[in-house]
This record gives sequence, C-alpha cells and structure tokens, in this order.
Amino acid sequence: MSELKKGPFWITNTLTRKKEEFVPQAPPHVGLYVCGPTVYSDVHLGNVRTFTTFDLLYRWLLHLGYKVRYVRNITDVGHLVGDIDEGEDKIAKRARLEQLEPMEIVQKYTNGFHAVMRQFNVLSPSIEPTATGHLIEQIDMVKRIIDHGYGYEANGSVYFDVPKFAEKHAYGELSGRKIDELMSNTRDTEGMDEKRSPLDFAIWKKADPIHLMKWPSPWGEGFPGWHLECSAMSTKYLGLTFDIHGGGMDLKFPHHECEIAQSIAADGQAPVRYWMHGNMLTVNGRKMAKSEGNGFTPEELVTGNHKLLERGYSPMTVRFFMLQCHYASTLDFSNAALQAAEKGLERLMKAVQTLNSAKASGNSNGAYTSALNVIEELAYGHMNDDLNTPRMIAVLFDGVTEINKAVDGGGVARGFNEAELGRWKKFYSEMVFDVLGLQQETATAGDDTAMDGLVKVFIQLRAEAKAKKDFAASDRLRDQLLALGIVLKDTKEGTTWERA
Ligand code: AMP
Ligand code: ZN
Repeated sequence: MSELKKGPFWITNTLTRKKEEFVPQAPPHVGLYVCGPTVYSDVHLGNVRTFTTFDLLYRWLLHLGYKVRYVRNITDVGHLVGDIDEGEDKIAKRARLEQLEPMEIVQKYTNGFHAVMRQFNVLSPSIEPTATGHLIEQIDMVKRIIDHGYGYEANGSVYFDVPKFAEKHAYGELSGRKIDELMSNTRDTEGMDEKRSPLDFAIWKKADPIHLMKWPSPWGEGFPGWHLECSAMSTKYLGLTFDIHGGGMDLKFPHHECEIAQSIAADGQAPVRYWMHGNMLTVNGRKMAKSEGNGFTPEELVTGNHKLLERGYSPMTVRFFMLQCHYASTLDFSNAALQAAEKGLERLMKAVQTLNSAKASGNSNGAYTSALNVIEELAYGHMNDDLNTPRMIAVLFDGVTEINKAVDGGGVARGFNEAELGRWKKFYSEMVFDVLGLQQETATAGDDTAMDGLVKVFIQLRAEAKAKKDFAASDRLRDQLLALGIVLKDTKEGTTWERA
C-alpha cells in the first residue's frame, strides 16, 4: 500500500473498553460495518448523529490511505415494535397505518433517509444491503446455528439457545451483562411458552396468516429475527471476521451482543476485531427518540418549525455542532450551542475562503511553515487519538488566527511564498472538506432569478402530483429539493421556497 499518512490511529474498542492501535487484518483493506436505519419513519437528528460519527470514521480511514469497504444496511423487515421478540413488525405496522404496501413504506423512508444523508454530506457506503434482499443467507445462517446445537425449532419459530451458548462462550461481554442478572431481570415475553429460557431470542419467527411480510423456510412461513440480518450480511460482504463494527450505543444490547453470539454459533469465529459505539444525542438529558416525542426531523431543524427550536439552523451548522463534541460523549441539544456553532463555522469557512483566494507575497519569513508544521502535527495527533474532533477543530481555529493575521485587506498573504501558501490551502481543504465533511453553504433565496424560476417549475409539478393525490411523487419532489438545500414551505398563499 502507499505509505500510511501520519499514523498510527488509535480507537476505543468498546469490547475491551481500551484504546487500541488500529491495525487492519489485511492492510490496506479495511472492512467496516455499521447498523443502518429501520426504514419505517423519518429519521430524526439522533439517528443523524450516529451516521455522522461513522461518516467521520470512514472519511478518516480514507484520508489515512486505507481502502475501505463500508457496508451499512437498511433494515426493512424483522425489527419489531418492542425491540425484542414481541410486537408487530415496525414496517408492517406503518404500512397498515398509512394503507400502503410494506415495500412502499420501505421505499419512501429509504428515499427520505438518503435525502437527509445528502443534506448532511454523509458519504454513501460501498454496499447498502437490505434484510429482505438476503433471506437465503439468513435462512442458511439459522441452519448452521441449529446444526451446531445452538438453535432449536418450536412451533415454526427458531430460537437461539443462550444458556447453552453461554456454557462454552462469553455472552454479555460487550454490554457487560451477566447471565444470572439477565435471568433475574427478564419478564414474561411473547413466545415464552416456546422458549426454553427467557434469555433465548428468535432468529426466525413464524408468521401468522395475516402477517404481511413472510417467506417460506424449512420451518414454515416466517421472517428473520432482527439481529440476524447484520450477522448474515456482514459475513457475506466482509468475511467471518472483519475489522470494525459500529452503531449507536443503544444497540450494544441486545442487538450487537446477539450478533456476536450468532456468528460464533454459526461459524465458530468472533465476527469483529474492533467494536465502536457512538453516543446519544439527548434533549434535556433524555435520549432523542421517536417514542419520547422529543425527536425533530432534519426538515423541522432547517425550517425552525418545532417547539424546541428558537429558529432554523442549516445542516452544516448542525454537522459542525456535532463534530465539536467527541463521538463517545453524549451531546445535549441546545439552541445556544447551535448558535455558537453557527458563528464558529462561519469564522472557519471565511478563513478558508480568504486562504483560497489569497495571493502569496513571495517573501517567506519561514514563520508560517513552522506554524503549519505544528498545526498539522497537532491536528493529526488529535484525529489519531480516537477521532478527537473537538480538539482538532480547536487547532484549526489556531490556524485561522494565523491566516487572518497574514492576509491583508488586498488578499495578499504577507510572509508566504507560493509553496507555503499551497501547503496551507491543501491542509485546510483536506481537513475541513474531506475529513470533517463540511461544505460551503450558499446565500439566501431570491439572489438568482434562474434558480427561482427552476424551483417554481418543481413547485408546480409537486402541486400537480398533489392534485392527483400522488403523495409519494409530491413527497419525493420535496425530498429531492431538500437534498439540494431547497426547503419548500406550504403557506396559505401557496408554496414558497428558501435555501436550507
Ligand atoms: P434505528 O433506525 O432506530 O434502528 O436507529 C438507527 C441508528 O440511530 C442506530 O445506530 C441507533 O443507535 C441510532 N440512534 C437512535 N437514537 C439515537 C440518538 N438519540 N442519538 C444518537 N444515535 C441514535
Ligand atoms: Zn445491526
């Protein structure tokens, strides 16, 4: 491989609870798997935080020179309302409520998710597999688990035998749970009459006749358990053991714990070398969640149309706000912090613009080379120290002070020669745009008549779609415009637009 830029890279492995040097099993290749969204509703800002955390990891690995295969799945079946083995399938429930086919729900919210990811400049993964697209692999995995004695069939469902697994292997290592404590804390759940132990979890569930999403299997018609898809798809695309598995902290138990158990039971190998978990976005100290009613959508955030928001904030302001906090710490939402982030981002972006349009004065005094050497060294050091973005950003601001000192009112960088100026530009562009994934946001609406005309054409098309009751099409148009930073607002006087 081409020489690694400025390593080594250390990450906190949440399995060992230690900061470890990251050494991929087959450099320069890195296998990265991140649990994606369950596409049954609009994503909220908490979800965006987790995907931004792993976007940052992906970007840093690429920047260091690794060739990354990044797999981030779409959960489109099997995630039940109770998050365990009970309740209706989240997607089927939504389909019933919206009177749509489950696959229309999946498509609608997958489109919405992609639009939000583009809005926040989150890079697409290399592979985005769906659970319904991998039924064969999941059924095969259930068979392997049964063959090895860790799964049993009961009345058309198949359960993972946790106590049997725990006789020989560690269960609970990732989440720090102990089998005895889990035993005393379990309550009666659906399927208890079928399960040998309350700790057992479904890897295949029998579908009743009215169930919407079901497939034939050796055990009758049914659907896979939620945890199974990630095990089957990570194995298929990244191998039996791969480098990094990520997800939000709330997925450690039971989801990730069950993933580990399934892989060991099916294939005899621990699946993951480094586990990484992003911490939660909270509102007044409580996790932002759909069920808490404290989750706002990115659209509400941009328009400011939510009781918790004093006004709207741009996606890049929010991205910057998130990056100013270390990914492993909780981040509490606040208007004051967002307003501070907005100011900080403006200062940083202005400096980058100043730098990019500056001309070198030609007479170097060497001071800016030494300053950049220090800044580079510190910035790499912080990023390699478990992606410490708050510290790295503070270092970038030290550089901003230097830039503002050096560039005079005429745009001439005093004390810089061509080569030095080139190095500063390259460093800032790599850190700000490639690594942190920030973007310049454009000016307000109305400054461009051609643009205004174009958006009005789309508004007209959307109105026509709505008139025909084709809400899928009208929502799609709105989401596609939103992805381009154009927010539509429906008012009594008609639809207007503004830039995000
Ligand atoms: P879900 O669609 O609910 O499966 O969640 C998708 C991802 O968002 C998972 O990795 C969750 O851990 C993550 N997530 C959910 N709520 C939050 C939150 N409040 N803060 C950060 N991440 C979250
Ligand atoms: Zn998963």
